[in-house]
Amino acid sequence: MSKNVKDYIRTIADFPHEGIMFRDVTTLFADPRGMRLAIDQLLEPYVGQRIDKVVGLEARGFILGGAIAHQLAVGFVPIRKKGKLPGAVISEAYTLEYGEAVVEVHDDAIQPGEKILLVDDLLATGGTASAGVKLIERLGGKIVGCAFVIDLPEIGGRKVLEDMGYDIHALCA
Ligand code: 5GP
Repeated sequence: MSKNVKDYIRTIADFPHEGIMFRDVTTLFADPRGMRLAIDQLLEPYVGQRIDKVVGLEARGFILGGAIAHQLAVGFVPIRKKGKLPGAVISEAYTLEYGEAVVEVHDDAIQPGEKILLVDDLLATGGTASAGVKLIERLGGKIVGCAFVIDLPEIGGRKVLEDMGYDIHALCA
């Protein structure tokens, strides 16, 4: 039987901390069929819809988002961790288990009214993605959807984003 996306992802115990079961998508990215399958399936619900830009969340969202943007023949915009982007930025802080993180986007990367597809590899608490959609909306972008390879629904991120009114597309749990 042919493999599905989940079959290409491995789980590594105790990374980056003891007790964490880390979903490692590098094995998915490294496999030519796996990578293609993931990109095709991430795109599927959006075929025929207007999308002006793909926004990817650092860092694995860059790999997926770049491939999706190429496939859609649209531009790609990175949302990066604080201090990485060279131009003028806007910032959003969000809460982590211990402390706070900040993500940024160039303030001229999205034009008002542009239709945006947000992409990342994994949705857990939804903190990163929520900060991402806030940045996009502050620039006037309209979120068409948020696409993830993995959704861990028991951690609650899907509900957070759905309660904010966003459409979530994920390939596996
Ligand atoms: P959240 O903000 O939803 O709690 O966490 C999602 C972010 O953390 C994503 O940017 C994702 O790349 C990263 N992340 C958290 N846990 C994992 C994991 O087990 N595997 C991978 N590949 N990324 C993770």
